[in-house]
Amino acid sequence: MVNLVIFGAPGSGKGTQSERLIEEYGLYHISTGEVLRDHIARGTELGVIADSFISKGHLIPDDLMVSILADLLDSNPDTAKGVIFDGFPRTINQAKELKKMLAERNSKVHAVIGLEVDDEELIDRLIKRGQESGRADDNLETIKQRLNVYHSQTSPLRDYYINEDKYLSIKGSGSIDEIFDNIRKAVNYKLNR
Ligand code: AMP
Repeated sequence: MVNLVIFGAPGSGKGTQSERLIEEYGLYHISTGEVLRDHIARGTELGVIADSFISKGHLIPDDLMVSILADLLDSNPDTAKGVIFDGFPRTINQAKELKKMLAERNSKVHAVIGLEVDDEELIDRLIKRGQESGRADDNLETIKQRLNVYHSQTSPLRDYYINEDKYLSIKGSGSIDEIFDNIRKAVNYKLNR
């Protein structure tokens, strides 16, 4: 049983590499961004609140995000077999809460895969994704805001997980296969150590 976090800036390839990791390790996928977009599409109360933050490129408040995550863990029994956390945690506070939530379930984060891509490439990728998928927050103004938020609130998690001896630094540019190969080697090395 293994719990992985895939970590990186918007556009770093978290969703794409998560799909490969699910196949490789038989993991349950929790993408908080997808969960929130689904609520927005269905017009739920949570969706209305989420949209007011997402459309501005801001983070959803920690307490709300943590309660969403606890519900996801409790309502999906398959999560006990191992999860890939994609888009969560995004703040140090969320990382601490995740540690607590997993400890309460006799579990832990085994490794954090950090996809590292420079800002220029991220902006190019996100603009392209916006044109192809029509994702509302993939427009230049919101992209810039999301990158600011990433650098100020999310990137400190890198040091947090380095201190916890869980961080695997992965070059996030190159072909999807090449990147996945590096991830798999790093994760297997970490799990067998
Ligand atoms: P993503 O699909 O992971 O890029 O997430 C899209 C948007 O959803 C983000 O820009 C945030 O507004 C919101 N979001 C997703 N996950 C979180 C989280 N863990 N904490 C706060 N906001 C989040």
